[in-house]
Amino acid sequence: MENKKEMRNWLDAFKLNHPFVIAGPCSAETEEQVLKIAHELKNSDVSVFRAGIWKPRTRPGGFEGIGEIGLKWLKKAKEETGLLMGTEVATAAHCKLALEYDIDVLWVGARTTANPFAVQEIADTLAGTDKIVLVKNPVNPDMALWLGGVERLHMAGIKNLGVIHRGFSTYEKTKYRNIPEWQIAIELQNKFPDLPLIIDPSHITGNRNMILEVTQEALDLNYDGMIIETHNDPDNAWSDAAQQVTPDALKQILKDLKIRKVSGDSDFENKMTKLRANIDVLDTNLLELLGKRMKVADEIGQVKKENNVAVLQNSRWNEIQEKMVAEGAKKGLSAEFITKLFKSIHQESIEHQEKIING
Ligand code: PEP
Ligand code: MN
Repeated sequence: MENKKEMRNWLDAFKLNHPFVIAGPCSAETEEQVLKIAHELKNSDVSVFRAGIWKPRTRPGGFEGIGEIGLKWLKKAKEETGLLMGTEVATAAHCKLALEYDIDVLWVGARTTANPFAVQEIADTLAGTDKIVLVKNPVNPDMALWLGGVERLHMAGIKNLGVIHRGFSTYEKTKYRNIPEWQIAIELQNKFPDLPLIIDPSHITGNRNMILEVTQEALDLNYDGMIIETHNDPDNAWSDAAQQVTPDALKQILKDLKIRKVSGDSDFENKMTKLRANIDVLDTNLLELLGKRMKVADEIGQVKKENNVAVLQNSRWNEIQEKMVAEGAKKGLSAEFITKLFKSIHQESIEHQEKIING
C-alpha cells in the first residue's frame, strides 16, 4: 500500500470538519437511550454517532451487545438527526447486517485487528464498499499487524479507510486502561501521512477525567479526528461506565480543546529553525555521551570476564535507577520517562558486556 493523497478524500466527501468528531455510547442499550443521546448530539460538532451493537468482551458474562434490533434504532436516529451512523463489525454476518441497515462508518475492533483471518473475512464481505471503514490498532503494540489490517481492506477495493488509535494492553498497571505508546502512531503517520488518524481517548484512558488531556495530546500531533464514548447516564451504562461522558461534558471538552494549525508564518519558521538547530546539537551530544557510556560498559565487561563475575548485578542496577529517578525529578523529568530510558540504557549495556564476556 502506498501513501496517496486520495486516502484523505473521504474527509471532504463526507463533509467532515477538521478535526471530526465521532461520539455516542459504548453500547446501544435501548431505543430511548440511542435516540436521546443522538438528539443531544445533533446540534454540536459531532458528525458521526457511534454505538456498539456487538460487543467483544474480554471475559464472558458482560453485556455482549443488543444485536440486530439496535441497527433499527440507529437507522431511526439517522433519519431523525441527520448524523452519520457508526458501529463495530467483527464477522461477515455483522458486515452484511451493517450494510443492509446502511451504516455509514464501520470499524474493526482492537481484538479483531489482531486476527488476520477475521480481518480478511471482513475485507471479503465489504469488498468494494464506499462506506468508511476504520481499523483500530490491535491490542498488542504491533504496527505491522495494524497496517496489515488496513492493507487487507485496501486490497479488497475499499477506498475510504482510516485508523483509530485506542492504545495497547499491558500487564503492568498504569494510569491508562490501554497505554498510548504515541511513538507507534507517530511512526504510522510518518509512513502514511495521508491515512486519516483518529484518537480514541475513551479506551486509552478508561477514565472520563483524562479524556480532554489525551485528546489534546493527539490534536497536538495532527490527528484528524476523535471517537469519544458519550452516554446520557454514564454511571449506569451497560458497558465501559467509567470512561463515558455526558453529551454536555463532551460539548465542554470540544470547547476546551485547542485546535492547532498545521504550520505557521515566517516569524514562526525562523524561531523554529533556531530551536531545532539547538535540539540537533543536543541530540548529537546525547549520542556522544551514550557512546562513551557504552565504552565504559565494555571495560566493566572486561573486568567481569577476568574475574568470572555475572553480568547482571541487581543491587547496583536498583541503586542507579533510584538515584536517576530522584535526579531526574529535579530536572522536571518524569519517573516514567527516566525508568524507561535507563531500562533501555541498561539493556544495551548488558548486551555490550555479554559480547565481551562471551565473545
Ligand atoms: C469500542 O469501541 O467500544 C471497543 C470495543 O473498542 P476496542 O476495540 O478499542 O476495545
Ligand atoms: Mn467501549
